Amino acid sequence: MIVSLSNALAEAERTGTALAAVNVPFFEALLGTIDAAEATGVPVILQHAQVHEGVMPLDDVGPAMVALAQRSSGIFVLHIDHGDDLDYIERGLNLGFNSAMIDGSRLPFEENVARTREVVAMAKARGVDVEGEIGVMTGNENGDPSQGVADASLYTDPAQASDFVRRTGVSALAASFGTVHGLYNQAPSIDYDRIDALREAIGVPLVMHGGSGLTADEYRRCIAHGVRKINYYTYLAKAALEAARTSLADDRTTLFPMLAVAARGAVKTDVTAFVDILSGREGHA
Ligand SMILES: [Zn+2]
Repeated sequence: MIVSLSNALAEAERTGTALAAVNVPFFEALLGTIDAAEATGVPVILQHAQVHEGVMPLDDVGPAMVALAQRSSGIFVLHIDHGDDLDYIERGLNLGFNSAMIDGSRLPFEENVARTREVVAMAKARGVDVEGEIGVMTGNENGDPSQGVADASLYTDPAQASDFVRRTGVSALAASFGTVHGLYNQAPSIDYDRIDALREAIGVPLVMHGGSGLTADEYRRCIAHGVRKINYYTYLAKAALEAARTSLADDRTTLFPMLAVAARGAVKTDVTAFVDILSGREGHA
């Protein structure tokens, strides 16, 4: 079943929870994440990032994401993550995605506003929600470990964020307040006061990128301060790798499909634990 981003975020706001937004650029990640959504009954955002085109093209995985989400008993939003351009986002919407992020955060502010407005106009005409981003996060979605420290001078300015939301009409905003993409070189330092100020200033749900690697308490605190969508990928990819490695070490006669089965199971376990923390289901599972 597929629901809109704005409806799922409104429900998260009402219940004081956050949505898990999971990148699934390999098939076992997709299957394991759907397993987790079905097991928990909690809405999950399935997303594909443009930066993963080299690993898994949208044209290949997108139709599978849409078809599996439609037939599943789980509840999903289908989201383009970190779209760089209008054409890529439109390709996703043509495949059946119903939500998109345009990432103009590395552009000068006025260019970011202009590009984001263009995407919002295209998306709104199709009833699709758009997430924008301002403020710079270091690291990247492929887990480059050389940059895993946040730079406080690049955190999002609340007044500028408010201006950005008002002028672009985005439905959600990704901002920089202490997390980084990929693996952390040292423990992250979250600026909770910044989250409070952003939440008050922007008037739309706040999104955390670089959500892998925080402690459960840090997730809970961020959610208590108003974060409503948390992007997740690096640690599920690590969990899949570890399960495949163990499977391989245990049985030298194993064939590749058994590694895939192990990886799917590990993703299900890992994403279920993440969803449990974000939705407050811990102890109820
Ligand atoms: Zn991101």
